[in-house]
Amino acid sequence: MKDSFIKKIIEAAGAAAVMTDEPMERHTTFRIGGPADLFVRPERTEQIIRILDLCRQEEVPYFLLGNGSNLLVSDAGYRGVILQLDQNFQACRQEAGKITAQSGLLLAKMASLAREASLTGLEFASGIPGTVGGAVAMNAGAYGGEMRDILQKVTVLTGDLEVRTLPAEELDLGYRHSRIMDENWIVLEAEFALEEGDPEEIRTRMEELRTERQTKQPLEYPSAGSTFKRPEGYFAGKLIMDAGLAGFSAGDAQVSEKHCGFVINRGCATAEDVYTLIEKVQERVQEQFGVLLEPEVRFLGF
Ligand SMILES: Cc1cc2nc3c(=O)[nH]c(=O)nc-3n(C[C@H](O)[C@H](O)[C@H](O)COP(=O)(O)OP(=O)(O)OC[C@H]3O[C@@H](n4cnc5c(N)ncnc54)[C@H](O)[C@@H]3O)c2cc1C
Repeated sequence: MKDSFIKKIIEAAGAAAVMTDEPMERHTTFRIGGPADLFVRPERTEQIIRILDLCRQEEVPYFLLGNGSNLLVSDAGYRGVILQLDQNFQACRQEAGKITAQSGLLLAKMASLAREASLTGLEFASGIPGTVGGAVAMNAGAYGGEMRDILQKVTVLTGDLEVRTLPAEELDLGYRHSRIMDENWIVLEAEFALEEGDPEEIRTRMEELRTERQTKQPLEYPSAGSTFKRPEGYFAGKLIMDAGLAGFSAGDAQVSEKHCGFVINRGCATAEDVYTLIEKVQERVQEQFGVLLEPEVRFLGF
């Protein structure tokens, strides 16, 4: 990457917000990933616009990172700019049955703010370790709820670097899919409609779901959650278990014995290990059941 480009990015975002050769293993829940050429934490929307403009002018690729909880970054890392919207984009306001949050706010934090305000509707999301932006873009969901159930409108930065606010109906939200992903938009802020609820009931439900996750999911190991999407009419974890792949491994990456839908990092797994394991699992499940498992995890730098 050219020094002149790095200098311009520093001018746009400030030296404290820019890191070079930043190991991505520090920014993914898999704890895997080589260095990103530039890693930037902008503070304001105008800075994002300026940085994207520079990337376009100089034809440098960029990638928007939330909490890195659904991401496998290659061992070689990423040749381009990673923009992370996290601690600088966490403002949240609550009024009359609504919560409006900036994209970097963690879902767990937003769910506890809702509980404190006696608002129900976000319990399902309290254990998903993503940001508001990542969750809206992926239409994250769990235990019968998903973001589209409560999402009202979203403010995005479009490909033309325009800030637009769209109602949820225009976002084509489906299973782990949205128009935001298709169009490569950036979520800046989202508004959620919630209902008045009983704080004690909300707390109890969140605790039930936390216990459920702790019991059923291998939370003691780094992972990116469910590795595969749920195929129509099946459960990925069950297919993998029925294929005899519980505990199956490649290097230090392993199909969790606790929950076969999760690939875990047993300590020193490389991205190559995880990738190889994903391919082998796909092959074996396809051979035995004729079902193609589509990864839910997103790949970067491969
Ligand atoms: C232990 C564990 C349990 C999990 N359980 C669940 C679950 O129950 N349900 C579920 O749905 N997921 C689950 N996940 C996966 C993950 O937490 C979700 O997909 C989450 O929504 C990803 O958010 P993130 O901020 O970490 O996004 P990242 O992983 O950083 O990015 C994911 C994608 O979203 C895009 N993105 C991120 N921020 C923005 C933004 N502001 N604007 C536009 N695009 C953006 C990225 O470019 C990328 O394509 C789990 C993960 C783990 C590790």
